[in-house]
Amino acid sequence: MSASLAVIDPATGASLRELRCDDAAGVERIADAARAAQPGWAALTLSERGAPIARFAALLTERREALARLLITDMGKPIAQARRELEATVARVGFFCEHVGAALAERVVHRESGLREVVVPEALGTVLHLSAWNYPWFVAVNTLVPALLTGNAVLYKPSEHATQSGLALVALLHEAGVPRAVVAAVIGAGATGQALLDQPVQGVFFTGSHATGLKVAAAAARRLARVQLELGGKDPVYVCDDADPAAAAAAVADGAFYNNGQSCCAVERVYVHRRIAPAFIDAFVATVDGFRLGDPLDEGTYLGPLARAAQLDVLTAQIADARAKGGRVLRGGARLDRPGNWFAPTVVVDVDHGMELMREETFGPAIGIMVIDDDAQATALMDDTRYGLTAGVYSRDEARARRVLGALRTGSAYWNCCDRVSPRLPWSGRRDSGFGCTLGDEGIAAFTQPRAWHLRSS
Ligand code: NAD
Repeated sequence: MSASLAVIDPATGASLRELRCDDAAGVERIADAARAAQPGWAALTLSERGAPIARFAALLTERREALARLLITDMGKPIAQARRELEATVARVGFFCEHVGAALAERVVHRESGLREVVVPEALGTVLHLSAWNYPWFVAVNTLVPALLTGNAVLYKPSEHATQSGLALVALLHEAGVPRAVVAAVIGAGATGQALLDQPVQGVFFTGSHATGLKVAAAAARRLARVQLELGGKDPVYVCDDADPAAAAAAVADGAFYNNGQSCCAVERVYVHRRIAPAFIDAFVATVDGFRLGDPLDEGTYLGPLARAAQLDVLTAQIADARAKGGRVLRGGARLDRPGNWFAPTVVVDVDHGMELMREETFGPAIGIMVIDDDAQATALMDDTRYGLTAGVYSRDEARARRVLGALRTGSAYWNCCDRVSPRLPWSGRRDSGFGCTLGDEGIAAFTQPRAWHLRSS
C-alpha cells in the first residue's frame, strides 16, 4: 500500500497536494470503530438518524460553490456540470429521507387465532462502499445516505481520483451530526480497497470497472457479505426513421459527451436508420462543433479535461483500431497537444462491431455512429454486447420503441431520452454491468435485511 496519493490537476497536469493514505493498521482501527458504533446508531429512531442527514443536505446547499470548485480540481468536471451534480445530490438525499420510512416499516403478513407473522426490515450491519470518481457525489450518496438512514455503519473509500470530494462529503456528514465512527472515509487506491475487503463487513457496495468488480465479488464471497456491483456499460441508442433527426442528434450528442463521456450511462454507440442518417449525422457533427472545450472553471465550458491520464491511451488505441478497420473520423481523433488530459471530441462513422470503439467501454469523448436498415438489425446490434446498463430509442412511436427496448437485456430503458438517472427509479445493470440496485425504493431496501417474527400471544 502506498503511503500517499498525489492530487493531480487534470486540466494542467500540475501536482496540487499529497494525501496521506490509511495503512493496514489504520484500516483495521476504522473498521473496528464502525462495528462497535453500529448497534447504537441502529437503535436510534428513524427521525434521530434522519435529522443529521437533513442537516447534511442543507450544508451541501450552503457550501455548493466551494464543493463544486473542489470537484474540478479532483476530476476536471466543468463548473456548470459540477454545480448541477451537487444540486441534484441534494434532491437525491430528499428522496431517501422521504422514502426510508416505508422501507423500514413492519409488515404483518398473516394473522390467525393468537398468531401474528411480521416482517421487520433491519440494517445489514457495517457496510463497505468502494466508489468511483466520475460522479463522486452521486455515487457516494446513493450508497451512504440510504445505508445510514436504515441504521448501517459505513466504511467509504472514495476513488483515488476524487478523494478530496470524498473527504469533504464525510466531513459534512460529521459536521451535520453523524457520529465519526458511524461513517468514515478511508484514503487510498486499490490496495486500500483490498485491505478493506479483509474486514468483516456485512455488505460490499462497489461502483467501478468490470475488471475490478470481479476481484471485489471474489473477495466479498469469502465473508459471505451481500454484494452489489455497479459496473461499466456500452450503452446504445437507436434513432428510428420517424424521429426528428436534428432534435435527436442534439439530445444524443449531449448524452454521449456530457461529463466528457465519463458517465456509466453515457451513450457509447449510435445506430441510425439509413433514411435519416445523412441529416442526423450532419446535425450531430454540428452539435459537437458547438461544444466549448476549455478551462473547467470557465462558465461556458462544456468539455473539460479527462479525469485520468491513462484513459488518453485507451481512446487513442480505440480510434487507431477504428481507422485501421475502415472507420472514418469526422471530428477529433487525437489528444490535444497541451499539458493535462485533453482529448478532442471525436465522431467516427463507417463503424462496425469488429471495432473496439463499438465493443469496449470508451469512457471518454468519442462515439461511433453506424447506419442500419431496420428495427430487427438495430435490436440485434444493440444487444450484441456483454454489458447491459441502459439503451435508448428515439422514435415518435412508443409501441415501436418499447418493442425494441423490451428485447434488450438492460437495467434501464429510455424512450426519447438517454444518459438519465432518476432517484425515483431503481438503477441496476444486467450481465457484465453488474447486479443489485441503488436508487428507488429498491435501492433503499438493498441496505436492509428482513427479520421474520413469529409472534404467538397464547
Ligand atoms: P475502478 O474499477 O478502477 O475503481 C473503482 C474503485 O475500486 C476505486 O475506489 C478503486 O480504488 C477501487 N479498487 C481498485 N482495485 C481494487 C481492488 N483490487 N480491491 C478493492 N478495491 C479496488 O473504476 P473507476 O475508474 O473508478 O470507475 C470507472 C468505471 O466505473 C467505469 O467502468 C464506469 O462505467 C463505472 N461506473 C459505473 C456506474 C454504475 O452505476 N453502473 C457508475 C459510475 C461508474
